Amino acid sequence: MTQFNGRTQICYGENAINALEKLEGRHAFIVTDAFMVKIGFADRIISGLERANITSCVYDKVEPDPSLETVREGTVKLLADGADMIIALGGGSSIDAAKAIMYFAYKADPAKGKPQLVVIPTTSGTGSEVTAVTVVTDTEQQMKIPLMDPLLVPDMAVLDARFTRSVPPSVTATTGMDVLTHALEAFVSTPANAFTDLYAVHAIKYVFRYLLRCYRNGDDMEARQNMLLASCMAGMAFNNSGLGVAHSIAHTLGGLFHIPHGKANAVLLPYVIRFNSFDVRDRYRTIAKKLELPCETVEQGNESLIEAVRWLNSQMGIPNRIRDLGIDENEFQTSLETMARHAMEDACTPTNPRRPSLRDIRQLLRKA
Ligand code: NAD
Repeated sequence: MTQFNGRTQICYGENAINALEKLEGRHAFIVTDAFMVKIGFADRIISGLERANITSCVYDKVEPDPSLETVREGTVKLLADGADMIIALGGGSSIDAAKAIMYFAYKADPAKGKPQLVVIPTTSGTGSEVTAVTVVTDTEQQMKIPLMDPLLVPDMAVLDARFTRSVPPSVTATTGMDVLTHALEAFVSTPANAFTDLYAVHAIKYVFRYLLRCYRNGDDMEARQNMLLASCMAGMAFNNSGLGVAHSIAHTLGGLFHIPHGKANAVLLPYVIRFNSFDVRDRYRTIAKKLELPCETVEQGNESLIEAVRWLNSQMGIPNRIRDLGIDENEFQTSLETMARHAMEDACTPTNPRRPSLRDIRQLLRKA
């Protein structure tokens, strides 16, 4: 039996943020970062909630790649605050922090009931607004830990492109490549199915059509809105199909060297396509065909897809090698064994189409 789950209500398009005015609840706990407060985004949410007679308080301590400590502090504050609704406002880091805070608060006091979770993404990248996943960082172990549970699936996602307009080009680039990695890994993963394919292919086409437009002109609202949709669709796909080793290695690079998640994925993706190509070369050729890339033979299809990813990276100033990400070479070599081991144990590895050995991961890291 094959299953496809998607239960988040998605509100998107012009003025999607007005969906807040129709929410039913008493008091909201807004999880965000200090920058979202500074640029007035949090105030817009507070006003929208007020129009629905919902009071709110703001927890703005989320840092990029949220730590267990932040989640712990947020959980204590949420339990004391007694909100019946959580609003996540920000990129994947704020969304994941909000999901983890909601999860641990509910586990600590189930009698209060599970608060409603409403997510407003401000980057087009993670798709976390529709996934049953949260990624938190154990700073002591220097590891990113993905937690998966159906309880983490948000109730509502509000996709309003005006909240992504201020994303700087470098973040637009790396988060956009995160979308592409989600969709491509979902398309070739072992549990991929007819429904995940639909979402994944649509997201891939949109990335190639709209990402450079967003990168070159952040005010191109048609492109911004479509990248937000692509991000959400890629999330729908991988939430059901899982991911692959680009993500496994990106998690360890994030945990150890604080490389932004999308950037690590962008650099790794061409190497992982080549690593997988023997096993799923027809699938990659299908994508090359959908993108109207040269694909007369299977080999040509695979090569042109790799080239297209590299080209997209190069257009946005993303390097093609891990060693060009500013990691100290000695530190990289010393950590290679730890990285390979963490990647092998990562939750994304079992769904990669080619089951890697520890040696394979080591080689991938050396090549990249
Ligand atoms: P992010 O949330 O860390 O944000 C990156 C930076 O962009 C931050 O400094 C933030 O303040 C800024 N920013 C966000 N929105 C902005 C805006 N509108 N204008 C200006 N600046 C803005 O980055 P991200 O890539 O969205 O999220 C990465 C995190 O998500 C990682 O921790 C990653 O592991 C996790 N992740 C989760 C899932 C999931 O399904 N839960 C999937 C992929 C990645």
